[in-house]
Amino acid sequence: MKKLTLQEKQHTADALLQRIREIHKPGETVRLMEVCGTHTVSIFREGLRQLLPEGIELVSGPGCPVCVTDQTYMDKALAYAERDDVIIATFGDMLKVPGSYSSLAEARTQGAHIHVIYTPLEVVTLSKEYPHKKIIFLAIGFETTIATIAATVKTVATMGLKNVFFLVSHKLVPPALRALLDRQAGQIDGFILPGHVSVIIGEKPYAFLPTEYKVPSCIAGFDGLEVLSAVLNILEQRRSGHLEVGNTYHSVVMKEGNQVAVALMNEVYTLCDDMWRGIGLIENSGLALRSEYEQLDVEKMIPITLEKPSLDPKGCQCGKVLQGLIKPNECPLFGKVCTPDHAIGACMVSVEGTCSAWYKYGYASGGLSWEE
Ligand code: SF4
Repeated sequence: MKKLTLQEKQHTADALLQRIREIHKPGETVRLMEVCGTHTVSIFREGLRQLLPEGIELVSGPGCPVCVTDQTYMDKALAYAERDDVIIATFGDMLKVPGSYSSLAEARTQGAHIHVIYTPLEVVTLSKEYPHKKIIFLAIGFETTIATIAATVKTVATMGLKNVFFLVSHKLVPPALRALLDRQAGQIDGFILPGHVSVIIGEKPYAFLPTEYKVPSCIAGFDGLEVLSAVLNILEQRRSGHLEVGNTYHSVVMKEGNQVAVALMNEVYTLCDDMWRGIGLIENSGLALRSEYEQLDVEKMIPITLEKPSLDPKGCQCGKVLQGLIKPNECPLFGKVCTPDHAIGACMVSVEGTCSAWYKYGYASGGLSWEE
């Protein structure tokens, strides 16, 4: 694909914005929700909210996998981390996510063995390096990462590794969209759908949006132009009345998704209800290891009981931010006690979190005002 020059990008952006202005009815309010942390960062970094005509509002939803991982999961991970015979293997962005009483980063300073890995398959190496330890991988994430982790589960099972386990809390995007629509009837006028997730699942799992809820949507790539294209696509759907799952990222996202990856996910995991930070329990929105892989499920093989109740960080409004019910600057802690250097909630910890994006590209860069 040809890379656009800066000037070509400018012309394309101007043309998209011109068309958006033509289609948008003055006085009408249109709330579009993006459900992808990369989109959130792009929207802020490129100042898209300021470029759109008045009345078109971009709202961030539960698109950051670290942010939606609930408090109880973090508390369980920390309880396992306390054990002398355990090594926690995790992606680095989980380190600072607050549990109810500590974080993995804090636990590490107190002697817990937390090993940051860059690909799930590193658990195989850890297993061999530390044969007398139990390696517990924190298996979180959306459809984007689930297939890779499923492949690791299969590899560990095939190799017969006895000291590798998985603490699973994967999240599926389409059931979350349904839950948001059920709970916020009429508040969301369209979804900008995540590119990475859609590469795996394709278009079909979103078909309920136009058919059952009469809500337009569009799968989008990641830079500002691609997000603007999706906004235009959704506005065109609204104008024509022909609602569908649009796809302006079709160079990468196939209608049917990646069937091999989906088959792998289905082979290893089965659907289950799951807790989302701020949203609560969503039916069939998570995955559990199938009984064939039960020996790798740490909660089944090494059960733990949490001695203290799981609590959200005091004063943190992540739950409302993740549902698009408030903007980060409406949280009284934003920018005062909660900053990326001293994050209180998960939405400020992750670089893809909404609070972090607001702080980094909004107030901190001087490009936006907290009053927006
Ligand atoms: S600003 Fe901090 S405390 Fe407030 S909602 Fe965001 S992460 Fe939570």
